[in-house]
Amino acid sequence: MVSDPIDIRDQNSYTTDQFIVQEAFKPDLKQILISEGEIVSRISRMAEKISESTTKRVESELYAACVLKGALRFFGTLTPKLSPTGEYSEGVIHASRYTEGKTTETRAEVSVPERKTIEGKDVLIVEDIIDEGYTLESIVENISAQDPSSVSIAVLFDKRDRRKVEIDIDYTGFIVPDEFLVGYGLDYNERYRNLDHLASLDSSVLKG
Ligand code: 5GP
Ligand code: MG
Repeated sequence: MVSDPIDIRDQNSYTTDQFIVQEAFKPDLKQILISEGEIVSRISRMAEKISESTTKRVESELYAACVLKGALRFFGTLTPKLSPTGEYSEGVIHASRYTEGKTTETRAEVSVPERKTIEGKDVLIVEDIIDEGYTLESIVENISAQDPSSVSIAVLFDKRDRRKVEIDIDYTGFIVPDEFLVGYGLDYNERYRNLDHLASLDSSVLKG
């Protein structure tokens, strides 16, 4: 699958005063990197591409799986724009990263839909952001074990420079810089999910 992500790593960003941003968030944010309008327009195009690929298969049964909680907003914007040709259903995936006791190796604990709900279906994993790649690696492993007909991945933001494990992403929204990002569903300690735009968090917040 050919993906044509928008690379914003060398692009100008915006100040928090150039868009509508909650006053309480402003001191915590460094810059706005992508505005809501751009994110939504990009998701529309991703939805079009995903739909195109389902029309190629006659008996396709699309199952869209939202990786909680960060991808909720992406999922909510993406899925109404899909026009699958066959059956369509939805579900959720829980994933959280942890570090193994003695080693410094990072793994992700994942819970996926039960076998009977995804067996034989074309599963589309909808994830907010890929960083080192461990989370999606575990998700794909767990989903594949339930015998779906196919597995594809849609990721809104890709921190490509930090990848530790190789993963094929079918649909990528934006390639983003190596900074801690919040907004458009992404949180820091459960805050900022309701910020409409993608922003970088100020380092003072991360230390504090
Ligand atoms: P990975 O396993 O690819 O290193 O990590 C992916 C997960 O880490 C994402 O699903 C997300 O929950 C979290 N994550 C990685 N980078 C960021 C970031 O910049 N901001 C936020 N809010 N979460 C991130
Ligand atoms: Mg996530």
